[in-house]
Amino acid sequence: MDWLDFAPEEPVARAIEVTWIHGSPSAKHNTDPDIQVYWYDPHTVILRQNMAINYEAPFMFLLFGNTHAVLVDTGATESAEYFPLRRVVDGLVQQWLDRHPRDGYGLLVVHTHPHGDHLAGDAQFADRPDTRVVGAELAEVRAFFGLGDDLGKPGSVDLGGRVLDCLASPGHHEAAVTLYDPYTGILLTGDTVCPGRLYVDDWPAFRDTIDRLIGFAAARPVTHVLGCHIEMTSDPGVDYPIRYTYQPDEPPLELAVGDLLAISLASDEIGDQPGRHAYPNFVICRED
Ligand SMILES: [Zn+2]
Ligand SMILES: [Zn+2]
Repeated sequence: MDWLDFAPEEPVARAIEVTWIHGSPSAKHNTDPDIQVYWYDPHTVILRQNMAINYEAPFMFLLFGNTHAVLVDTGATESAEYFPLRRVVDGLVQQWLDRHPRDGYGLLVVHTHPHGDHLAGDAQFADRPDTRVVGAELAEVRAFFGLGDDLGKPGSVDLGGRVLDCLASPGHHEAAVTLYDPYTGILLTGDTVCPGRLYVDDWPAFRDTIDRLIGFAAARPVTHVLGCHIEMTSDPGVDYPIRYTYQPDEPPLELAVGDLLAISLASDEIGDQPGRHAYPNFVICRED
């Protein structure tokens, strides 16, 4: 087997050159694929659920290592008929294995956090061979990634020479995590940081998480900050209304480390004020 080297001196910042599927004026007459597939590089795939199937249209991520691939999140829809995530992922794994043949290749299924639009497809993987679906609730997440009470100490998961860091990221959800892939330099931030509404369930925890992410990113090369939704328009500070299934004017999915700093500064400004606070690239929604 060819052992691939996933430990570059410095990750390459690749442009994300894709028009994401973004719904249609009539969901009923939508002709987009159920799941859009974008190969970011030969070992990294970004997936988006069709907005006509579920307005959340979450992004999911598939990263290949030497012994395992990891699927990060399983979308907003249970039904394999309407949302054939297992079939699409099996096809992608087969494509990768055709290029990099090896025996006994495993699949891990993990989650950015246990909201329904990030784990609905889990059951599609329950009977898949060589597969582990890691539960998304706090105790199992902490045990799997090796996270302790010290939130400043990252855990990890090894895909076979491709070792992802995992940072506990409470705030949007107590069990939320952020994954960092040193191979691509991508930070996967779930719903904690995305070009959309940042719903905050626990304000002090969210602020601490953003500051910890800033500290983490300062010590490592981060090429892209990728969350799981696009809800903004390309008009700064203006978001699409919730439940819209047609978003023709989306900004890119990718944010940068500067946006983490912008969220931190915004949080200082917001202070104790509850409610909704719009900024150019995101809207902070305090729910606590
Ligand atoms: Zn969420
Ligand atoms: Zn979500």
